[in-house]
Amino acid sequence: MIKKLIRKFLGVKDGAARDPSQPDVLGREQHGIDPALISPNAVRVTRTLQEAGYAAFIVGGAVRDLLTGVKPKDFDVATNATPEQVKRLFRRAFIIGKRFQIVHVMFGQELIEVTTFRGIGSGNAPKDEHGRVLRDNQFGPQHEDAARRDFTINAMYYDPASEQVLDYHGGVADIRARTLRIIGQAEQRYREDPVRMLRVVRFAAKLKFEIEPATRQPIHVMAPLINNVPPARVFDEMLKLLMSGHAMACVEQLRKEGLHHGLLPLLDVVLEQPIGMKFVTLALDATDQRIMAGKGVSPGFLFAALLWHQVLEKWTAYQAAGESPIPALHLAADAVLDSQTEKLALQRRIATDMRDIWAMQPRFERRVGKSPYKLLEHPRFRAGYDFLLLRCASGELEDELGNWWRDFYEASDLDARDSLIQAANSGLGAAAKKRRPRRGGRRRKGGEGGDSGGADA
Ligand code: ATP
Ligand code: MG
Repeated sequence: MIKKLIRKFLGVKDGAARDPSQPDVLGREQHGIDPALISPNAVRVTRTLQEAGYAAFIVGGAVRDLLTGVKPKDFDVATNATPEQVKRLFRRAFIIGKRFQIVHVMFGQELIEVTTFRGIGSGNAPKDEHGRVLRDNQFGPQHEDAARRDFTINAMYYDPASEQVLDYHGGVADIRARTLRIIGQAEQRYREDPVRMLRVVRFAAKLKFEIEPATRQPIHVMAPLINNVPPARVFDEMLKLLMSGHAMACVEQLRKEGLHHGLLPLLDVVLEQPIGMKFVTLALDATDQRIMAGKGVSPGFLFAALLWHQVLEKWTAYQAAGESPIPALHLAADAVLDSQTEKLALQRRIATDMRDIWAMQPRFERRVGKSPYKLLEHPRFRAGYDFLLLRCASGELEDELGNWWRDFYEASDLDARDSLIQAANSGLGAAAKKRRPRRGGRRRKGGEGGDSGGADA
């Protein structure tokens, strides 16, 4: 109903009347895009292509964001020029990708992704035994390119020269009605590329759009198809999801759609325990805030947080089996990382960061002699310390330990630090000595030798 009214207001054709090869063409008064929000480099790319005789448009997420008045974080361009033809027109242009060839055009730090219009073809693109498309490099006309994009709101083309929006699938109306709608038949689109199910979750959570029933309905049943997608691609999409600035909303939506199994195994269990839930919520909220403030987020920190309660559980179990705390922690870290690399293809660099952050944790409990000073010099100290604060804030550890480290870290001179160490080991520190983690019943053994728990495993 709302959609109908909006379409009427925009003067665009509806449902059956629509010819899929004829887009609605909207002028500036109708779409209201502010050209000031557009990257000059994206305009440069479309202009260069157009001057060389090709069609070229800004496309995808950038048009979606522009229509909602949001400054896009990056720009994609679609054209009828082939990757080779695109490459020839720009000084710094690189053809990348196999499954899906695109051209990266670089301007300083800014990267504009240029894709050639894809055709629907005769349906004989190479597929795996589950129907997943393995390669998609068959070029075609623009309306076919629109039809093989994922959602109506991602299938609009903006020409900066004419300031017109070309809308083939009612994307403008869906944006106004805040609806996420897949193009074509949902089951088939998920089968071709199961990652589209994760994209549904990301866009719904990020944009706070309703998922249209036919788009949503098959996801529960088809979720296991994600297991056939190469782990590196799943990892990339998970990272996008967690770095979207709406990580918590995304994780909640993943659970709601039944998509979390296998992606973050046991996340369910963690989220069902009050402390685990609080820890993950705090970590994701902190991530969202950093992203919103335009600050960087380390994927290692993020995954270390998401998997911490699994490490904690295993750490406790290894100790209960007689292992000393530090080796037990390393065994726990290994076990968790091993179980994850299969599904998530954690890159080695990220796994190393996670291990560093976890391995540092027992060292924060050792507040004698030179130990705190050594820890302060650890190259990843800041991440380990932030992680400690999260553990305190979630109720896993007493606040006293986090507060002590905050004082020690921020102390202006050696004397202040020395007296903090003294205090921790005298009457004032008695509370600290009695302090035990609230979960897992971890006991300190004599001769724990915290420093041997050095950062790198
Ligand atoms: P973001 O804001 O995250 O960049 P985006 O919509 O631009 O969102 P990209 O991954 O940059 O997402 O993809 C650019 C465009 O390519 C999308 O808008 C969509 O039209 C198309 N696209 C991307 N991935 C798929 C897919 N798996 N299936 C179909 N079309 C896709
Ligand atoms: Mg994009």
